Amino acid sequence: MSLMGQMMHMPLTISSLLTHASRHNGDVEIVSKRVEGDMHRTTWTEVDVRARKLAQALARLGLQAGDRVGTLAWNGYRHVEIYYGVSGSELVCHTINPRLFPQQVAWIINDAEDKVLFVDLNIFPLVDKLAAMLPTVKHVVVMTSREHMPKESAIPNLLCYEELLAAEDGNYQWPDFDENTAASLCYTSGTTGNPKGALYSHRSTVLHAYAAALPDAMNVASKDTVLPVVPMFHVNAWGLPYTAALIGCKLVLPGHHLDGASLFDLFETEKVTFSAGVPTIWLGLINHVKSNNLKFSTFKSTVIGGAACPPAMIKTLQDDFGVEVIHAWGMTEMSPLGTLSRLKAKHADLPKDAKQRILEKQGKGIYGVDMRIVDQDGKELPWDGKASGDLEVRGHWIISSYFKMDKSPLHDGWFPTGDVATIDADGYMQITDRSKDVIKSGGEWISSIDLENVAMGHPAVHEAAAIAAHHPKWDERPLLVVVKKPGAEVTAAEILAFYDGKIPKWQLPDDVAFVDEIPHTATGKIYKLKLREQFKDHKLPTA
Ligand code: ADP
Repeated sequence: MSLMGQMMHMPLTISSLLTHASRHNGDVEIVSKRVEGDMHRTTWTEVDVRARKLAQALARLGLQAGDRVGTLAWNGYRHVEIYYGVSGSELVCHTINPRLFPQQVAWIINDAEDKVLFVDLNIFPLVDKLAAMLPTVKHVVVMTSREHMPKESAIPNLLCYEELLAAEDGNYQWPDFDENTAASLCYTSGTTGNPKGALYSHRSTVLHAYAAALPDAMNVASKDTVLPVVPMFHVNAWGLPYTAALIGCKLVLPGHHLDGASLFDLFETEKVTFSAGVPTIWLGLINHVKSNNLKFSTFKSTVIGGAACPPAMIKTLQDDFGVEVIHAWGMTEMSPLGTLSRLKAKHADLPKDAKQRILEKQGKGIYGVDMRIVDQDGKELPWDGKASGDLEVRGHWIISSYFKMDKSPLHDGWFPTGDVATIDADGYMQITDRSKDVIKSGGEWISSIDLENVAMGHPAVHEAAAIAAHHPKWDERPLLVVVKKPGAEVTAAEILAFYDGKIPKWQLPDDVAFVDEIPHTATGKIYKLKLREQFKDHKLPTA
């Protein structure tokens, strides 16, 4: 018989993160740019009190353990209070992306069977329109004070967030329960088929928060000031609201003010040191900083992920602005962190270029995430940096099944990510493509990411996307879609010449199409499906 350890059993609950933040870093600030237009300052202790008041209010509304509570909100202190008040009281916090199509928002709310919806003031018109289509929703709470409440609404008994809290005394003890209890729910964006729900547990969330803070991951500490540009409805802002409580750092929350000028202003006035977001958001910020000849004075490092970060962007941030970029890969089904790009001790003496090439990869697996690549027969492929195969993962914060779906998504105990990747002998993973975005030219695969990365290095290119276009002989050939920088002049031939020596000749795009705008998904990634539709009748000059 095994000899059992004799340690206390304290469940890893989300409320314990907030209790810790309040007791040990209680005076540390959470600063928000509010939807109402002004700046708001609070502290971890105040958030703890208000989250407990919220838990009392939810109980008063009749909610019971396991009930889902939806949020349609930007990054702000009230959203943080909801994260903790809902999960902490054994309810499930279901964050919803307000940028999805309205029908999709309704579909997700109905699938989750949300009982209550918390809504930011400027997202409220969407909910007002959808309300009649949401049979499970018993209460809608507008996240504001009485004076800002909507004057007219189709919803009877609309509730006011500040009034709900004001009616409670905060004399509430976070309950203890099994750490495997569901804590939050997040749907994949469903660019193909209906969205699918990933139901995180308290345990998985706390472990993920621990891992995210580590030096080889985000490397954030109590002395940092963290501004998550990634929305709290995009995989829980990559766990940052939890990690911030765990380390007790200052949080700066930008609301819906995500343009370059507003962000830069916030970075400077609040002395932000660390941030995180998808590549597209940095395009706007970099443009603003460059064209106005500005400088960041405190901003030191940022995680960029959710889509491949172009090497040119890493270089600009590092060389021109002195901001370290940590390229990261993950997905909704993984809470989301999987890999982050960090150097090892043995890389210390490498020349700058060689280091940069390592950091351009999606990175090393962190403890808690195991990965492998397999061929079409499910046979594991070597870690040689060359063999490319389907990337599969398993670990403490990776789903074992989707919400309300019986069929297991797992393959042999591993979760198939839908990404194609290589892994080198040092364990650095590099995404070749999403399997559905790979360009299949006469049986050979071309990575759309590789083509985009080169194009993004051209000084006249603002944004670039490579997609498969139909070709009578090769089936598919690459078409490069380009948005020029404002005022820049460049021809297709010049862009194609820029590829010389950077990729094998046969992978060169067959054509370049200039557009005013590339479509993006609700999470700010290039919307390849829509682009392919847009260019489905495109005649390649080589056809
Ligand atoms: P969705 O984009 O559908 O909302 P996710 O945010 O979960 O869903 O997206 C996960 C996917 O995003 C990954 O499977 C991968 O294809 C892509 N992705 C995430 N990070 C990176 C990265 N650093 N490089 C390349 N692709 C990435």
